[in-house]
Amino acid sequence: MRGAVMHGPGEVRVEDREAPQIVEPTDAIIRVSAACVCGSDLWPYRGIGVEDSMWPMPMGHEYAGIVEEVGDAVTTVKPGQFVVGSFWASDNTCPVCRSGYQSACVDRVPMGALGAQADLLRVPLADGTLVATPDMPSDDLIPSLVAASDVLGTGWFGAVAADAGPGKTVAVVGDGAVGLLAVLAAKQLGAERIIAMSRHESRQRLAREFGATEIVAVRGDAGVAAIKEMTDGLGAHSVVEAVGTQESMNQALHAARPGGHVGFVGVAHGVAIDGMDLFWSLAHVHGGPAPVRHFLPELIDLIWTRQIDPGKVFDLQLPLDQAADGYRAMDQRDAIKALLLP
Ligand SMILES: [Zn+2]
Repeated sequence: MRGAVMHGPGEVRVEDREAPQIVEPTDAIIRVSAACVCGSDLWPYRGIGVEDSMWPMPMGHEYAGIVEEVGDAVTTVKPGQFVVGSFWASDNTCPVCRSGYQSACVDRVPMGALGAQADLLRVPLADGTLVATPDMPSDDLIPSLVAASDVLGTGWFGAVAADAGPGKTVAVVGDGAVGLLAVLAAKQLGAERIIAMSRHESRQRLAREFGATEIVAVRGDAGVAAIKEMTDGLGAHSVVEAVGTQESMNQALHAARPGGHVGFVGVAHGVAIDGMDLFWSLAHVHGGPAPVRHFLPELIDLIWTRQIDPGKVFDLQLPLDQAADGYRAMDQRDAIKALLLP
């Protein structure tokens, strides 16, 4: 089968990989209907956070597809069903899963290590990981369903962690796909005002389509000052951090009002939080790898009933064979997010 493999920074090739087999009785094999390139895939692409021993690495952790085969112990999904999973395989039964944090499941398996940018994918812990759609989706729903696998689920968790809801002013730091979908999530969760921070016209437009009521086009301290000015000097009730840099984290923390909530979902690279800063912020700060599986049934239902259309974040659609172009376009910020189809 074909699969995308990164051989070093900037070097993505779609090549022949061995087709996955059922290894554990709890596994499923799915035929990938759609995968995509994640903002977090750009960190190794830029040579950040990787060591020489990690190459070559199969790529991709966002997926939706059709079950081909299941192990003997799998009971909740069967061949022929369309399924969506998340970037951590999880049993969905351990105490951590039951508390809603499937991304820290005691049995979790990182899907990225298996490589979802491929024709076929082995999904461990299939019963806990995969959620079947009510029926076979029409083609136009597939981008939104694969978005639920990570980017929507992550933006959603960011908004939930930031306590977005009715009567709240929500600020979103980051205009990548996750930030934009945090805007959609905040809207869906009933936020009153949603301030998207973006300097890019096309991303501002999409943010407005997803529900942003205001745009702030400056960042850093100027961005914080702008949010304060728009909120009677108080700051936002809820701030979603969807970048993962020192600047974005500072901006998020400083833009929240005392007693407010910061939900951080950008994978933090080289971020240090100053203790005094945190102490005086009086903010609730919560985040990490999103427990997408917790939200999947609800997100699939919202997509299936066409109440949300997160698939709009894909502004580049490529055949799997051209995955390298998707990485390049996202790295250059020519594309918000690349969808990969077989
Ligand atoms: Zn678990």
